[in-house]
Amino acid sequence: MRSAGAISGRQAGPDAGYHEGCGHTSLSFDDLVDTLKRAGLRMTENRRAILRALLAARAPLGLDEIREHSAHHGGMPDFATVFRTMEQLEALRLVQRVHLGRPSSHFELLDPRSHHDHLVCVQCGRVVPLVDKCPVEQMERDLARRHGFTEIRHSLEFFGKCPECSGSATRKREEGGK
Ligand SMILES: [Zn+2]
Ligand SMILES: [Zn+2]
Repeated sequence: MRSAGAISGRQAGPDAGYHEGCGHTSLSFDDLVDTLKRAGLRMTENRRAILRALLAARAPLGLDEIREHSAHHGGMPDFATVFRTMEQLEALRLVQRVHLGRPSSHFELLDPRSHHDHLVCVQCGRVVPLVDKCPVEQMERDLARRHGFTEIRHSLEFFGKCPECSGSATRKREEGGK
């Protein structure tokens, strides 16, 4: 049974369901600030707080979550500020939109040195970053060659049920205990 309350409750914890060390960017706070300044954006306290919230995130965040997390990093951005800032960061290719099969978009920092796709549990919302290998890297190169496109990018999400939600984790434990 799918319940919205359970999903948001699970996401509220900073470590809920996310593998340690995955999905982290090699960009530093200073890298991000430099890029924004070069693009002519003013570095307000709210923008700094939003960047810090994104850097600390261990999974893609929704706009509400970005706003909430920014409060822990010395900012109080309203919804419109978060929305506009994410659009600007996306245009600068510092952030990518990730579609987790929920009504609203989620965002994460885009690491130019380590792209990854996502495996998403449709029941509990757990997100597993796929850091080993991108399955469509070769296809991207072929598309560029065949259609003459440059700067091709993609965001790829696989959906399914995690072991906990499908019950296979419990079954395995029970079988192992026998
Ligand atoms: Zn699950
Ligand atoms: Zn990929």
